[in-house]
Amino acid sequence: MSKPFSVLHDIHCHSFLSSCCSDETCTAENVFKQAKEMGYDTLCLTDHLWDSAVPGPSNWYAPQDIPHVLSAKPVPQYEGMRCLLGCETEYTGNGHLGLAKEHFDLFDFVVIPPNHMHMVGFVRPEDVTTPAQMAQLFTERLDEISKLDIPMEKVGIAHITCPLLFREGKVCDVVKLMDEDKLHEIFARFAARGAGIELNRGSFKELDEDPENALRLYRIAKAEGCKFYCSSDSHTMEGYKSMGAIIRRIADLLELTEDDRYIIP
Ligand SMILES: [Zn+2]
Ligand SMILES: [Zn+2]
Repeated sequence: MSKPFSVLHDIHCHSFLSSCCSDETCTAENVFKQAKEMGYDTLCLTDHLWDSAVPGPSNWYAPQDIPHVLSAKPVPQYEGMRCLLGCETEYTGNGHLGLAKEHFDLFDFVVIPPNHMHMVGFVRPEDVTTPAQMAQLFTERLDEISKLDIPMEKVGIAHITCPLLFREGKVCDVVKLMDEDKLHEIFARFAARGAGIELNRGSFKELDEDPENALRLYRIAKAEGCKFYCSSDSHTMEGYKSMGAIIRRIADLLELTEDDRYIIP
């Protein structure tokens, strides 16, 4: 018998270095200390990042460059817990990623969000408005990310059912229109290349309403052999504490065991 999937880790979360974090107490030091107190075996801080070596950041991203994110170093070290430093970069389509390949070495782990579609005119083209168009765009983005020439074994695919995917409607109405064969092909590629698939605390708001589509992408990912990890995606000290219950439920619904867990290499 394999061990049950452990939710005592958080490898996509933010500190006050992220521009969207307004909790000044959310420092790297405090975040790692609290994680240790909660009994976590791994915490990886992943503040928002756009590498100045890559052209075209939005005004919001531009100040959040590599020196800014790496200013969290040195991260604290605790006995029995991995304390890691990564980043959450951005993907804007057509192979354009906000972190240059040669700079992956600077980070333990790189989170790539495929669906920050609230960033209209930057991540989301203005003419994508209907669920069908969004299903098409989102599928293309996942496909493109799965083919990027980067060290995929240290990449996490963030919050694939995040509400930001389609704020004006339901995420499930987009997900249910995505092509089954294409999704299998994409997640098989992520599995083969060793990427992690994220279970994000905020990505399951439609679970009770539409369990089939709320879990559809994860079930396909699991069927193709993908591994999974937990994310609070927290931007406050308090937010770090409220991940366990929903992720535990998701892990149980997906029948995940510790063998299905993604581990940062
Ligand atoms: Zn994100
Ligand atoms: Zn995030």
